[in-house]
Amino acid sequence: MSTQLRIFCDFDGTIAQRDVGNLVFGHFGSESHWWGLVELWQQGRLEGREMWRRQAEVMRLTETELHEFLAPLAIDTSFGMLAGFARQEGIPVTIVSDGMDAYIAPILAAHGFGDLPLRTNRMEMTSEGAVRVEFPWYGQGCGQCANCKGLHVRRERLPGETTVYIGDGPSDICGAREADIVFAKKQLLAWCRENSHPHYPFTSFADIHDHLQGLLKR
Ligand SMILES: [Mg+2]
Ligand SMILES: [Zn+2]
Repeated sequence: MSTQLRIFCDFDGTIAQRDVGNLVFGHFGSESHWWGLVELWQQGRLEGREMWRRQAEVMRLTETELHEFLAPLAIDTSFGMLAGFARQEGIPVTIVSDGMDAYIAPILAAHGFGDLPLRTNRMEMTSEGAVRVEFPWYGQGCGQCANCKGLHVRRERLPGETTVYIGDGPSDICGAREADIVFAKKQLLAWCRENSHPHYPFTSFADIHDHLQGLLKR
């Protein structure tokens, strides 16, 4: 029987080289306010939704400004190798993010990955520059994540599929707990090591491509 794979991949710091959520929310609001909120959230003292909301309240940002800010931001070019392989093999790839659609969708589209389904929070900007954030997935999640990635692995996996999770940060822990195979770097890698959670470290999507190609050949 051949292995049927389904891939879930984080965006910020994983596909995008930098954490675009931190860049946007820091740059267009108060930077120190933002990092204070992030620290509280990382310590488990602030719920994810509150972190985004409290910063959105002090932000001013129009759609044009956002797109100008995003234009020079790079993605990890090796992602194309994994995405191309998945397309060719008919492996679904879903982008899961605890960040915002307003910056993820344009960056992916600009690099030719606009067809990938997104599971993210929502952000809207008024013409006056007020920012509103919404959390359509919150109610079905773990209660701590604004958009619980574990939820998406659970609800989208089909019987018999082997689920693959790729990520780099604290918001990936719920997804990593739920998936069959985990590829981790940075803070997610540290968490996997500390908690003896089975995983493969990776630096490039080429590593993941090679590993999955090997699995399919077996
Ligand atoms: Mg990340
Ligand atoms: Zn969660």
